Amino acid sequence: MKMAPEQFAMIKAQLERLMEIPDGFYAKKFAGIDIASIQSQEDFEKLPFTEKADLRDAYPMGLSAVPQSEIVRIHSSSGTTGTPVVIPYTKKDVDDWAKMFARCYEYAGITKEDVIQITPGYGLWTAGIGFQAGAERLGAMAIPMGPGNTEKQLQMMQDFGSTVVCATSSYALLLAEEIEKRGIRDKIKLKKGVIGSERWGEKMRRRISNELGVELYDIYGLTEVYGPGIGINCKADSAMHIWSDFIYLEIVDPETGELVPDGEPGEIVITTLQKEGAPLIRFRTHDLSRIVPGPCECGSTHPRIDIITGRTDDMVKVRGVNMFPAQIEEVIAFTDGASSEYQVMIDHVNGRDHLTLFFETDRPKSEWPRIEENLASIFKGKIGMTPHAKAVEVGELPRSEKKTRRIFDNRY
Ligand code: ZN
Repeated sequence: MKMAPEQFAMIKAQLERLMEIPDGFYAKKFAGIDIASIQSQEDFEKLPFTEKADLRDAYPMGLSAVPQSEIVRIHSSSGTTGTPVVIPYTKKDVDDWAKMFARCYEYAGITKEDVIQITPGYGLWTAGIGFQAGAERLGAMAIPMGPGNTEKQLQMMQDFGSTVVCATSSYALLLAEEIEKRGIRDKIKLKKGVIGSERWGEKMRRRISNELGVELYDIYGLTEVYGPGIGINCKADSAMHIWSDFIYLEIVDPETGELVPDGEPGEIVITTLQKEGAPLIRFRTHDLSRIVPGPCECGSTHPRIDIITGRTDDMVKVRGVNMFPAQIEEVIAFTDGASSEYQVMIDHVNGRDHLTLFFETDRPKSEWPRIEENLASIFKGKIGMTPHAKAVEVGELPRSEKKTRRIFDNRY
């Protein structure tokens, strides 16, 4: 994607400021790089990436790019693997985040007349408070519930006439099911759901949308880069607009780090344009998506990315082709006769990678060859290589209560 001249100017000014900070995070990271020599997008693209591990190493306040007195708040990403990442925010950062979030609500057609029930958690992480600040900025009435206590959620939803619910996709589904179960749908005034970015399939989306009777919007964001609210899809399409006045986006091949052409899937890399407390240059998010090329029907010029299709950790490369579970699920969903369960085996035999895709079907055996052939050709069309497709009876593939492992890479 072409970097806008304003974006380049902002990045350049930011780099110059960061290099001046004695002992600063980027002054150290980019030591030896002549910032003055960065004159074009191509020069910028030669800068090394910022990895999550670099951020962890900066714990507690090593990322801060301003004097301590300018910091008004910190947030932290969950430290499931040891040290958490701590992000300091200045007053401007907090304001900018609320501004971006309010814009998200506006893109979803939400106004100050709305009542927004917020179910993501409040705390060190960035979820609830982002939804809250955006709602206040917009002038809507926020109900800061936080997660859980479904009984109370539903009571408040009725008593205060919530018109918007903010939730994870799994909690939205649970709410939808409870509303259905209790037969209180006619007492619920919900019109819209704003769903925090996580991977969720089209099937789940349709279920939530139908059962709750609402329009759904996907919001994108991550703690390292403000939090949720740096982009949302518009009414025209499911792709998410990312706010180009605050965020510069790149999509790279997760293995090589090379930029991929617009439209091709890869890892989202983010550079912040206005952040003061903890600016990030070429930060690798590990989220997988792709640029959706071309203008959006809605008229917005903010660039678009597809719904997040997974994490780079889920990706496998076979015969030079990158693929991830969501793509395989899409192939399954498109294949007439294939049920939702599948398993992928990747082997290396006689110097060549082989991918076998087992899928369940309830069709008679006589139809299997046709379904297998059909699946292989859809796979080839969508992913770019031909698998060995193999039908099995429903119930033959293993199931697990936890997340079922579906891809087995036996090559290494
Ligand atoms: Zn649009």
